[in-house]
Amino acid sequence: MTRLGPDTGPPRAATGRRGAPGRAPVSNRRGTPPGDLARRPTEASDPVAYDRPVRLQFLGGAGEVGRSALLVNDALLLDFGIKTDTPPQYPVGSTRGRPDADPEAVVVSHGHLDHVGAVPALLSGSARPPVHWTPPTAELAMVLARDTLKLHGGTPQCPFTETELRRLTAASTLCGYREPFEAAGHRVELFDAGHIPGSAHVLVDDGDTRLLYTGDFHTDDQRLVAGSRDRPDADVVVTESTYADTDHDDRDVVERRFVDSVRTTLWEGGTVVVPAFAIGRTQEMMLVCDAHDIECYVDGMGTEVTRLLRRYPGFLRDAEAMRRATSNARFVTGRDGQRRRIADQSTVVITTAGMLSGGPAMTYVPAIHDNPVNKLCFSGYQVADTPGRELLETGSAEIGGRHLRVSAQVESYDFSAHADHGGLRAFLDAYEGAPLFVTHGDSCDRFADALASDGHDATAPALGETVEV
Ligand SMILES: [Zn+2]
Repeated sequence: MTRLGPDTGPPRAATGRRGAPGRAPVSNRRGTPPGDLARRPTEASDPVAYDRPVRLQFLGGAGEVGRSALLVNDALLLDFGIKTDTPPQYPVGSTRGRPDADPEAVVVSHGHLDHVGAVPALLSGSARPPVHWTPPTAELAMVLARDTLKLHGGTPQCPFTETELRRLTAASTLCGYREPFEAAGHRVELFDAGHIPGSAHVLVDDGDTRLLYTGDFHTDDQRLVAGSRDRPDADVVVTESTYADTDHDDRDVVERRFVDSVRTTLWEGGTVVVPAFAIGRTQEMMLVCDAHDIECYVDGMGTEVTRLLRRYPGFLRDAEAMRRATSNARFVTGRDGQRRRIADQSTVVITTAGMLSGGPAMTYVPAIHDNPVNKLCFSGYQVADTPGRELLETGSAEIGGRHLRVSAQVESYDFSAHADHGGLRAFLDAYEGAPLFVTHGDSCDRFADALASDGHDATAPALGETVEV
């Protein structure tokens, strides 16, 4: 392995030298192609073999969570996300989210902002790289991009324009799991990563080296999606490590604790607000409530995402359970007067934002905060410097422009969609002897050291670092 350091400059312009033989189109067998998002992938044939190392440029998500981006052989870009700091941060080798050099093709692992948020910016100027993803990922990307444009269009917080968003539809190339296709001269195959619907491990074969980019993944079943089972053969692995420091409690134990707590509050006549991320977590919490006959309201972007995901039953663990949960939940149409009336009921409200940084939670939390019978149940990790984290740690927070001291009970439940320490280790043990690159975590170095001391060839690349292996 050659470590070329972070100072080898921006990615070189793509050259197409790896060859891209043409072939008949393949159909997508999972889900229904949405509207116009139906460009066909090019069927894979064996890539031309080159006896030389694979070149990896860690443009984002190295030693951090956010703005994931990995450039392979100067040509194939895996993910292109946004880190939602103030101001937001984009992958290195880009200027305000616009890449300094154009990739030949893009593959997106899943539809979360930190993996897909800046992808429309790749279509600025004359660049037309095809964007490969599963059908749910394509639609989620559009929802996120429209939201970014609506909230931040024309400011540095939105790296693209309406024009580039429109181009994304033409560039979109839908791919199913285990259906190899060609991208920038590489043979690429997606495998179910068990993180959210449509999430994928990405296997890239350049004819000489097989690279597995795990994307975000979970090895345990959630109600919404089954855990990752596939362990495709690979010579090099780039892994996420979000929960490398944590061992989750068993999901059924967490769920039981949550359900008991909610029932207690309802019995006492209180209101339960469940802040939840729109993509994945809102639907998971709906499924949990429905499985235990707890009625709930659903509000925020999660309502749109729920309708969207229901169109892809093949990407859900139990489509019938999702149908039931959707018909039993009450979707809030969104006037503040209605929200305040709901907050006065003894009921459960699942709502964005998951970390209280905006959304309808800005109405619900102030409405319930001063009664100790009410409850706030966080359903996921609260990142440092978010209102959610501040509230958990101090009992007060800046919510919707007001400083609130919260008398309602505040609890936190780990409904994570990521593999924990044990899950990561078990997954990576399947790749003994392969160089492992640890990314997408707050303690990548520590986890890489632990893997190395157990005999793995593991390192944590620095942001902007280029490696040949
Ligand atoms: Zn994710």
